[in-house]
Amino acid sequence: MAEDTFKKVIAHAKEYGFVFQSSEIYDGLSAVYDYGQNGSELKENIKRYWKDSMVKLHENIVGIDSAIFMHPTVWKASGHVGAFNDPLIDNKDSKKRYRADVLIEDHIAKIEAKINKDVEKAKKRFGDAFDEKQFRETNGRILERQNKINGINERFVKATSEGDLTEIKQIIIDESITCPVSGSKNWTDVRQFNLMFDTKLGSVSEDADKIYLRPETAQGIFVNYLNVQKTGRMKLPFGIAQIGKAFRNEIVARQFIFRMREFEQMEMQFFIRSGEEDKQFDYWKTLRMQWHKALGLGDENYRFHDHENLAHYAKAATDIEFNFPFGFKELEGIHSRTDFDLSQHQKFSGKKLQYFDPETNTSYVPYVIETSIGVDRMFLAVLSKAFEEETIKKDDGKTEIRTVLRFPPALAPVKAAILPLIKKDGLPEKAREVLNLLKYDFNCQYEEKDSIGKRYRRQDAIGTPFCITIDHQTLEDNTVTLRYRDTMAQDRVTIDDLPAIIDKEVNFKNLFEKLSV
Ligand code: ATP
Repeated sequence: MAEDTFKKVIAHAKEYGFVFQSSEIYDGLSAVYDYGQNGSELKENIKRYWKDSMVKLHENIVGIDSAIFMHPTVWKASGHVGAFNDPLIDNKDSKKRYRADVLIEDHIAKIEAKINKDVEKAKKRFGDAFDEKQFRETNGRILERQNKINGINERFVKATSEGDLTEIKQIIIDESITCPVSGSKNWTDVRQFNLMFDTKLGSVSEDADKIYLRPETAQGIFVNYLNVQKTGRMKLPFGIAQIGKAFRNEIVARQFIFRMREFEQMEMQFFIRSGEEDKQFDYWKTLRMQWHKALGLGDENYRFHDHENLAHYAKAATDIEFNFPFGFKELEGIHSRTDFDLSQHQKFSGKKLQYFDPETNTSYVPYVIETSIGVDRMFLAVLSKAFEEETIKKDDGKTEIRTVLRFPPALAPVKAAILPLIKKDGLPEKAREVLNLLKYDFNCQYEEKDSIGKRYRRQDAIGTPFCITIDHQTLEDNTVTLRYRDTMAQDRVTIDDLPAIIDKEVNFKNLFEKLSV
């Protein structure tokens, strides 16, 4: 069922100009996608929602735009050259390649799902008297499964931190994890694979330097920490936000725009005094979750997943997971990174990256809380939850399916469609007057082809919140029919009132006001 929905979302994304395969006429390039006329608008709106919520709503957060290419030593300092690896494993029968860590995580998720199923069943059986906490702590079968999960986790965390690839394979064997395609346990050894793309800088190949396409945008922020702090006269705590492309040579890239080789990130590094990291980590966890939930896609679709497997420098890390059509998966990461990154750059560059604190009269390397989210994953989250095939009753009693994208209005690619009822009698001219009134403030579409019903459906399919129909009465009294996407209700309103009515619905303020910044 969910699989079906996912397929439909992908097909819809293509049919209505949201997402195309890259270089499609050449049969595409694996895990690389292009955004079409509607997709690029939706993406821009997502970015604007994020950037404004950071920079406009916080006096102490500023934005930058750093280059994709960086000095190669940056990636040595950050640890990416040495350790930005994924453990890969092949199934010898299906010849499919997997990330060994993902196979183990999926296996754990299956056991967790069984626990949750038992809890749900018990909830139904016991009704109001049900005490979930007690049930989880005392039920034999649940305890057994939880112990199993803990055991696997413990081995996995240890093996990962020690880089013990033999042990990672052993976990897969001991847990009888099978290939989802062949169903067999015929695995190769686990190998490390570095995810960074490299290229050459300079025209003469012998002395050209090897450089990398950045695998994350965060390092561009760290290396500019002092530039921004000094030129912006920033005082701790303060943040630097940026949106930009990142590149990873992902081993497995199968889930549409969920895992791409070229993608876009929105990252914010918040520089703080040490000792404040727990408070700040909680603040950012709360705020980021509010940011997601403000969109109204359903609070039940989000959850935190705390990391067990912490990097040695990290104090805490959590993911905000979203209920994608293929289950709960990471949408955003929030990390408490101590002074690791700046200290590393200080060490490798030989330049001091410290903050002089006028309150304590001391200089030190600040701590960092990071929030990091993929634009494309956010796009997929919004698109998949907005997609609905609604069964509606027609006037003649028959039913039909209406495909509608219920985007949060602020994110909708097109805000209003302007539709003359027919192509003559001066209606197109009047409709263009309405377009001219609205086009400076809202992304509008003018359409005069096909019946009005068909035009409404096309706008529903791209998620346009308002359709404005100009008819003969408009020429007499300056009123139009305003049709709402979600309810399909229609109102007669005057043209002069349109800007205020539309603005009230689509303004980003509606979302920002839900954030306790
Ligand atoms: P995953 O475990 O799914 O590979 P990650 O933990 O490596 O993700 P981070 O390095 O924390 O991800 O990156 C931050 C965010 O960037 C992720 O939460 C995700 O939204 C996005 N992201 C990371 N890799 C990709 C990718 N290959 N395609 C699209 N978005 C990505």
